[in-house]
Amino acid sequence: MPPVDATSQTQAFDAADGVVAALGPGQRVQVLLPLPLAGAFDYRLPVDIACEIGAFVTVPLGARQVSGVIWGPSTDAALDEAKIKDVIALLPIPPLPAANRAFVDWVSGYYLSPPGAVLRMAMSAPGALAPPRVRIAYTAAETAPEIKMTGARRRVIAAAQDGFARSAGELAEAAGVSASVVKKLAELGGLATVQIPDEARFAPPDPAAETPRLSSAQTEAATILRGLVAARRFDAALLDGVTGAGKTEVYYEAIAEALAEGRQVLVLVPEIALSVQWLDRFERRFGAAPAEWHSDLTQGARRRTWRAVAEGKARIVVGARSALHLPFPDLGLIVVDEEHESAFKQDDGVHYHARDMAVVRARLAECPVILVSATPSLETVVNAQEGKYKSVHLPERHAGAELPAVQIVDVTKDKPGRQQWLSPTLRRALEETLEAGDQAMLFLNRRGYAPLTLCRTCGHRLNCPNCAAWLVEHRFTKRLQCHHCGYNARMPAACPECGDEESFAACGPGVERLYEEAAAFLPEARIELVTSDTIHSPADAAAFVARMAEGETDLVIGTQIVAKGYHFPNLTLVGVVDADLGLKGGDLRAAERSYQLLHQVGGRAGRAGKPGLVILQTAEPDAPVFQALAQHDRDGFLEAEIAARRAFAFPPVGRLAGIIVSSVDEAAADHAAKALARAAPHADGVAVLGPAPAPLSLLRGRFRRRLLLKTRKSVRIQKVIADWFGRVDLSGKVRLELDIDPYSFM
Ligand code: ADP
Ligand code: ZN
Repeated sequence: MPPVDATSQTQAFDAADGVVAALGPGQRVQVLLPLPLAGAFDYRLPVDIACEIGAFVTVPLGARQVSGVIWGPSTDAALDEAKIKDVIALLPIPPLPAANRAFVDWVSGYYLSPPGAVLRMAMSAPGALAPPRVRIAYTAAETAPEIKMTGARRRVIAAAQDGFARSAGELAEAAGVSASVVKKLAELGGLATVQIPDEARFAPPDPAAETPRLSSAQTEAATILRGLVAARRFDAALLDGVTGAGKTEVYYEAIAEALAEGRQVLVLVPEIALSVQWLDRFERRFGAAPAEWHSDLTQGARRRTWRAVAEGKARIVVGARSALHLPFPDLGLIVVDEEHESAFKQDDGVHYHARDMAVVRARLAECPVILVSATPSLETVVNAQEGKYKSVHLPERHAGAELPAVQIVDVTKDKPGRQQWLSPTLRRALEETLEAGDQAMLFLNRRGYAPLTLCRTCGHRLNCPNCAAWLVEHRFTKRLQCHHCGYNARMPAACPECGDEESFAACGPGVERLYEEAAAFLPEARIELVTSDTIHSPADAAAFVARMAEGETDLVIGTQIVAKGYHFPNLTLVGVVDADLGLKGGDLRAAERSYQLLHQVGGRAGRAGKPGLVILQTAEPDAPVFQALAQHDRDGFLEAEIAARRAFAFPPVGRLAGIIVSSVDEAAADHAAKALARAAPHADGVAVLGPAPAPLSLLRGRFRRRLLLKTRKSVRIQKVIADWFGRVDLSGKVRLELDIDPYSFM
């Protein structure tokens, strides 16, 4: 967890918050551009432009015009006046709030990324900076037109009588006709044509639309959280409690408080595409849908939402990590749901952790942040233990629902058949569950049919041409895929090495193979495969949820996308096919992540009065993580994990930074990695491990070498790195990636 003391970076902006921030014509200013360049550039305000710090402007950059943000008055007096160009225009949008600007600087300083690269995330809706577009809409005409009336035309006119201006499509839908009928009618004067701004209309949420009756433990928790919001200053709280304890219900109370005070709220969720049930529930509770923010939004929705946030019209935003960079003028609360999820870590572009940065963002906005999880990350647990975060705990499932029993099956004794993966015990439990009319779920975190395909004749393995990785067979689409770079090819007819035909053998199971096995021994069952190959959109996810709710699916076989958040009342059995999978590879968080994931998956079972059962298939039945799951001993597990991290000074006890050197030229990558190692810092509490080939030693055609910097927590790792990199001159063929607080070690 980064230090949340942001004072040093924000000092420069203290003066920017008041009236003194006004900048007048002729003045020289620094403009930060959303480009991964060094820093802000100097420009001059022309005679007709006065503005404040944070204003959005366009400026010339070479032959281009680029939009950016006024970052402050110019500081470089020595700069040649003649070389300074004029700002071209001031954009008609509220200035980027001071807290956002401070956040850009903070993220840039902490992750050692150019501020422009960070600003780019805050300006990820380019069209939003232009004046809102107008669109054509139709309403009823003032006077009844003298034209031939058909049934369809009458319906359109009737639908338009309510006075709302609608697009041709909307009006056609309301009248049950085609859009061409509407357009023709308007042409003939049967409808009035108006221009309306193309703005998002977010209905204001009602904090009291449907208030739940909370249990006494829930009330106590909600009171604390409401208090944090009402205090209008920074604070951080961990809200934890088993799945089904009512955490969501409780943090909704904190949201209600912020909304009642007229402020804005940001809720970060790990995967919004999978949050259908969450969105429905939110709408019931608050009587209106939240604004959504994620990478799948259309350009238009992005533009409208960004602007609605900037103008304070979108009161609540639920989004993926990128929503942290939205320009909220009046943020009153941030919630990070499932705070332990690794989806909050971004591993391309600027490497940052949205959970950690949510805490920083809240501090800069002077509002509280609530981190929510049934299985909080060690980082958060330690912060709570040290008193940096408040602990708010819900002790049990709502309405006396029992936690599912966890049964460990030792697959070395309770053996599945040859080329099969379900043990006799798990098969029996599946049969009994389906016979009782209940639903079951099999979990295996592996897409495709088999993780490895090899030639029986010569032993050749099908590898990705761009990566040091096996190709995964996807039998349903008859293709081979690389899950690292997306390489995709037809399954070859013959072995590319020895030319033998029909010699391929699939090794190990993926969900498709499991489907085959389950379908063979449960011929009556309606089985559904749920992976990122079958769920492409929120609509797909909603359809899956509906099939489960309607009882049209008996057995779900899925990857981690079925593990999270869903609530299916009749799902009583969860089988984890290979509980050991997450422990392989063994990075420092393997046990922690396994615990979190398996607890989440198990939490899907038996949520509505019916008792649930979780079966974990493992070859290591005594592993502490499985024992802790079986005994519901989360705190014991956490203590043991923290002790282990302490013993090796691993995070959250110490600090790490990953350094990846890559090049299409293997020798250049090696050379650069060695040069970095030779220049490595020597100091108390600082150690450099490596270089070594990365576990993914070839990725997308680039050879990769890794170094790992490990420091005591008190060391300012950014300074160590900046000094270190400053001593090394790398060739242009080499790319250097820096990952502060890394989660992936691949
Ligand atoms: P968590 O977020 O801790 O997993 P939820 O808030 O999703 O728990 O609650 C689990 C289930 O129990 C949900 O269906 C929720 O609507 C219900 N529930 C929780 N608290 C209450 C309450 N006070 N009154 C009615 N239903 C509740
Ligand atoms: Zn690949």
